Amino acid sequence: MNDAGISQQHTPMMQQYLRIKSQNPDILLFYRMGDFYELFYDDARRAASLLDITLTARGQSAGQPIPMAGVPFHSVEGYLAKLVRKGESVALCEQIGDPAKSKGPVERQVVRIITPGTITDEALLDERQETLAAAVACDGERFGLAWLDLAAGRFTILESTGRTALAAELERLKPAELLISESSRDDFARNGTAVRTRPPWYFELASASRLLTDQLGTLDLRGFGADDLPLAISAAGALLQYVRDTQKAAVPHIRGLHVEERTEALILDAATRRNLELDVSMSGHPEATLFALIDQCVTAMGSRQLRRWLNRPLTDQPTLRSRYHALGALINGRSFEVIREHLKGIGDIERILARVALRSARPRDLTQLRRSLALLPALRAALESIDSPLLQELRARVENHDDVVRLLTAAIAEEPSTFVRDGGVIAPGYDAELDELRKISTHTDEFLLELERRERERTGIAGLKLGYNRVSGFFIEITRKDAERVPKDYIRRQTVKSAERFITEELKGFEEKVLGARDRSLAREKDLYETILTQLTDRLGPLQASGMALAELDAIGSLAERACVLEWTRPGLVSESCISIDCGRHPIVERFSTAPFVPNDLKFDSGRNMLIITGPNMGGKSTYMRQAALIVLLAHIGSYVPADRATLGPLDRIFTRIGAADDLAGGRSTFMVEMTEAANILHNATPRSLILMDEIGRGTSTFDGLSLAWAMAHHIATRLKSFTLFATHYFELTTLASEVEGCVNVHLDATEHGDGIVFLHAVKEGPANRSYGLQVAQLAGVPRDVITQARHYLEALESQRDQQDAAAPNRQRDLFTIAAPPKPAKLPADPLRAAVEAIDPDELSPKAALETLYRLRKLLKPGAA
Ligand code: ADP
Repeated sequence: MNDAGISQQHTPMMQQYLRIKSQNPDILLFYRMGDFYELFYDDARRAASLLDITLTARGQSAGQPIPMAGVPFHSVEGYLAKLVRKGESVALCEQIGDPAKSKGPVERQVVRIITPGTITDEALLDERQETLAAAVACDGERFGLAWLDLAAGRFTILESTGRTALAAELERLKPAELLISESSRDDFARNGTAVRTRPPWYFELASASRLLTDQLGTLDLRGFGADDLPLAISAAGALLQYVRDTQKAAVPHIRGLHVEERTEALILDAATRRNLELDVSMSGHPEATLFALIDQCVTAMGSRQLRRWLNRPLTDQPTLRSRYHALGALINGRSFEVIREHLKGIGDIERILARVALRSARPRDLTQLRRSLALLPALRAALESIDSPLLQELRARVENHDDVVRLLTAAIAEEPSTFVRDGGVIAPGYDAELDELRKISTHTDEFLLELERRERERTGIAGLKLGYNRVSGFFIEITRKDAERVPKDYIRRQTVKSAERFITEELKGFEEKVLGARDRSLAREKDLYETILTQLTDRLGPLQASGMALAELDAIGSLAERACVLEWTRPGLVSESCISIDCGRHPIVERFSTAPFVPNDLKFDSGRNMLIITGPNMGGKSTYMRQAALIVLLAHIGSYVPADRATLGPLDRIFTRIGAADDLAGGRSTFMVEMTEAANILHNATPRSLILMDEIGRGTSTFDGLSLAWAMAHHIATRLKSFTLFATHYFELTTLASEVEGCVNVHLDATEHGDGIVFLHAVKEGPANRSYGLQVAQLAGVPRDVITQARHYLEALESQRDQQDAAAPNRQRDLFTIAAPPKPAKLPADPLRAAVEAIDPDELSPKAALETLYRLRKLLKPGAA
């Protein structure tokens, strides 16, 4: 056994393999052998099943066949992409020695560890989405979170309190990898996140601070506002350590540490993020998310910026107003079109710069950078006349980078090859030595013809020929009969059939020059390329600033385009507490529905803070509630909103209790999930929160459910006084309106049509007059005899109630009289409903009738186009 405990019975190569493997025990080791990366033993078995590649065996070592699987090195990227997507990390072990010079196995070394959260290669990354690695450090309820987008160099920390808050942040960031301390007892398991434990010293505060100040080149972290955030610093230190361990290279593009304050953002808990389908759809239709709707960015950087904005809506009114103002300026005269046109050719500067810093940038990255930077002066000129302080600030940050463009134009060829190792990357004329070396290899033919002519002249042998073969190199060939006439300085090399081959000093010198020239020119190109990367790294700061400004500009351009195309309006922000929306629309339902969307108003103020929403299933209750949240959210990212007018006071959070899904992974029933979410709301909501509660209490028995729903609504309305949309199928809750100040009934209108039902989707004041449950069931395809039977039963219940009412006319119907629904209230006259009811169902289907009427109404609306 040697020092790593590896048996000497193994072949020398396997000893080397096992030694390297012992240093990388938990991750797949890709061991380079010639044109392949090979995996052995358990790694081979795991890779074979993960990658669907063949498991073979290689000879024997220590008397046993070695299980082996391999992938060709030129297609390794595809395999790596597949593995990181499955949360695996891979250590790339390369041959670094010269096979010709080594005795025993070539020297090998792990040059980089590819992990799901730290990828930077273009082929492994999702263009329009950040890939993040995160680390968390906890102390009781307090937690520090750090996250890093290595592919762009964005490093951020946050410190806060509470498990719910931590869960919300992780749901927002969706890190591909999360580092926790070995000593942590929390469960961070989450789909799409690979959780890695690290020893506690990784998180040690003093060394974390040292590591960070060293990286950022500062004395302390005060300049970043991070000096009193010990847990966040610990997490950041652990993360930076991990990145250094895996990259095995400097990371000069991490130049700052951004501190986020939770209070600066409109807080959305994890469930709310999911429920509102901001950028992940629950139904699996990626195009049906708010992000998909608003993302019209022309660059990938812009898309990622917009996604960050959407995931972290801001509360700072001046910042939001400056964005609205910029949108207004861009919409004016449709100048967003011009700006977007200029942005179109701009590549992913952020990621290219990260690869420059990591020294993995490829030649095409540099041509892309050159092309992009060359477009900046025109873009800046186009921005110059636009009246918006924010856009002018961005314009200033974009800068022109003429010197960098000049460098790249002079140094990098027009169309360089993909890899530096293939040559043809550095432009001709950039470096005299390289030009000379290249001239030698390309002008060989010319030189040989010239030499041949000269030698013929000198010797007078007309049949003298110059030739080349791999064994003897260059030679002068002369037929046997002329061989006696060769000059003295000719040296015999070889005799072949009927000819003699010679060499001269000049030819030998030329041969050395030519054969060495190609190698030397490739080496020279590599050196020059490295120097160019260093020169660019020196300019990293201003170039990164440009990239970030361009990303913001693109995100704003996209919002302007959307506002214009989707006819959204600029929200008003005020200091008094209110939400006032005229003709609000649900942007996604509106976009995907073939029927015209029915806009609805919403009014909340200090005297009106809870709406009890009733109405039939499918009537539009959840659409109405969600559209309120989406409008609020859009306004808080600086976007215009889908409404004729919207005025918003200060808000701190959006809470939702929507939809019922069993948390199978977490082992919680629907009811348990429902109550956990409700508990979170009841504990954390404030008078500045917007709450959406949909059908609370549905997951348990009627009495339990009704009692809970009633008590929760009562608590929110009387104690928390948050702005609340409370949709319920318990009609009994409509009595709250008469008991609690600020609580109001509204309903979604519907009407019977023949024996069917027509949903008018219009929100009206007052409680619904009936539930239309049977009609909806019929619409859903419940068999006719079941419906008929239900109708008989319902009639019996209703007549029982009427008899009771007749016997005791003044009987107060209390909360628990739920045997039968309340009597239909007299509804105010509505011309639209009357019109629908007047149409003969045999002539026009109810749906068609309604659509026609809405189109008419839209046309007749004063001011409509
Ligand atoms: P509920 O929550 O009352 O069961 P939903 O909000 O789920 O009803 O709405 C059911 C369907 O009705 C939606 O999928 C949408 O197609 C349509 N709808 C809802 N609100 C409107 C509206 N305001 N205008 C047009 N269609 C609507």
